[in-house]
Amino acid sequence: MISANAKRFEKIVRRLEKAMPEAKIALDYDDEIQLLVSVMLSAQSTDAVVNTVTPALFARFPTAAHYARSSPDVIGQLIKRVGLWRAKSRNLHAAMKKIANEHGGKLPKTREELRELPGVGWKTAGVVVNHAFGTPAFPVDTHVGRVARRLGLTRQEDPDKVEKDLSKLLAPALWGRAHQLLIWHGRRTCDARRPHCSRCVVRSLCPRRGVKESD
Ligand code: SF4
Repeated sequence: MISANAKRFEKIVRRLEKAMPEAKIALDYDDEIQLLVSVMLSAQSTDAVVNTVTPALFARFPTAAHYARSSPDVIGQLIKRVGLWRAKSRNLHAAMKKIANEHGGKLPKTREELRELPGVGWKTAGVVVNHAFGTPAFPVDTHVGRVARRLGLTRQEDPDKVEKDLSKLLAPALWGRAHQLLIWHGRRTCDARRPHCSRCVVRSLCPRRGVKESD
C-alpha cells in the first residue's frame, strides 16, 4: 500500500517538474570521465567556479591515462580556483590512475565500484551513475537534505539515512529527477536561511518543519 507521504512526495515532484522543467545538472562536461572530474571538483565549491577551470583541465587531460601520466602538482596548477584544490588534485590523480590501470580507462559503471575510487564518496558516485548511465540513485547533498526535512519527508540528518528514507517513498524511475528538482528548489526557493514560502509551488503540500522565518 502506498503511504500518504509517498503520494505527497510524488505530487511534490510533479509540481516541481512543472515549475522547473529546465532543471538539470549545472556542471559542463562532454563525456563520462569529464563528468566524474567535475563532480569531484564541485564538493565544497560552486558549479560556476568548477565550470571556469574545467575547459583548460579537459583540454590538457583528454583521458584518464593523461591524468595518470601527470602529477598532482601539475593538475593542481589548473584547479587552484576550486576549494580544497590540493586534496582534490591528489584524489583526481589517484582516481584516474586506478581507472586507467584497473578499468581500461573507462568509468566503472556501478555506484559501488565508483565509491572505491580515491576521493569519490557515495553521493558523488550516485550523481555520476545517474547522469552517466541513467542508473537510479538518490544522492543527498545539503539542498536535498534540508528541503526533504522541511517537507517532512525525513527526520534524518545523515545524508545516507536521508537517501534511504527518500528512496523508500518514490519509485526508482523518479529518483534521479527528484534529486535534481530538490537541488534546484533548494537553490531558488527553499533557501537555507530564509525560504520563500509565499511563492513556493509546493507550499500547500509542505508542513514547513523547522522553518522559523520565511517570506
Ligand atoms: S513551503 Fe517553504 S519550507 Fe516548504 S518547500 Fe516551500 S519554501 Fe521550503
